[in-house]
Amino acid sequence: MSGGNVVTALHPAAMNGDAWAASKAHRAQRAAELIHELLTVLGEDPEREGLRSTPERAARALQWLTRGYSTSPEEAVGPGIFEERHDSMVLVRSIELYSLCEHHMLPFYGRAHVAYVPNGRIIGLSKVARLVDVFARRLQVQERLTDQIADALEAVLRPRGVGVIVEAQHLCMMMRGVQKQNSMTLTSALRGTFADCQMTRDEFLRLATGRP
Ligand code: ZN
Repeated sequence: MSGGNVVTALHPAAMNGDAWAASKAHRAQRAAELIHELLTVLGEDPEREGLRSTPERAARALQWLTRGYSTSPEEAVGPGIFEERHDSMVLVRSIELYSLCEHHMLPFYGRAHVAYVPNGRIIGLSKVARLVDVFARRLQVQERLTDQIADALEAVLRPRGVGVIVEAQHLCMMMRGVQKQNSMTLTSALRGTFADCQMTRDEFLRLATGRP
């Protein structure tokens, strides 16, 4: 089975940016062919009118939903980091988040709360949301997504600490399997002063969750 190798070869980490971009049209066409075949396997007729453009459309949608693979955290942040003497916690709360679980390729969605304590530099607030998207727009598990957001913010900003909470609902749990409609999964990642200092951690949890 060479499937693993194909994925590795196509992954942007194994190609330079230009080759990856140039192969985009080829990958879109290949994905459409596979979705055409998948429709047949599922018992559908891919030639019926309502499905005629579905393979191309679904392939484009999937490429869009996984576009985080072709963006690095540094690209997402760009020149959005500024010298600033501010040493209190900065919290961007309730950043909308849409991702795909890597086990079922079904959506999970919710919110991210991202905080940091600066160390001489701050980051543009919209850049925090873009950083979340870099990792959300990939096949993910919520736990890793949470850690990656925290690690990336730590790497680009080098703050005193970072705290990330993600709360999300998973369609793979809601639509299939245990069919639990209202369960919310919470994950957190705490770095630096958020891990070391209980006061900082408590302030973060209070501000992020809105609970006293
Ligand atoms: Zn899943």
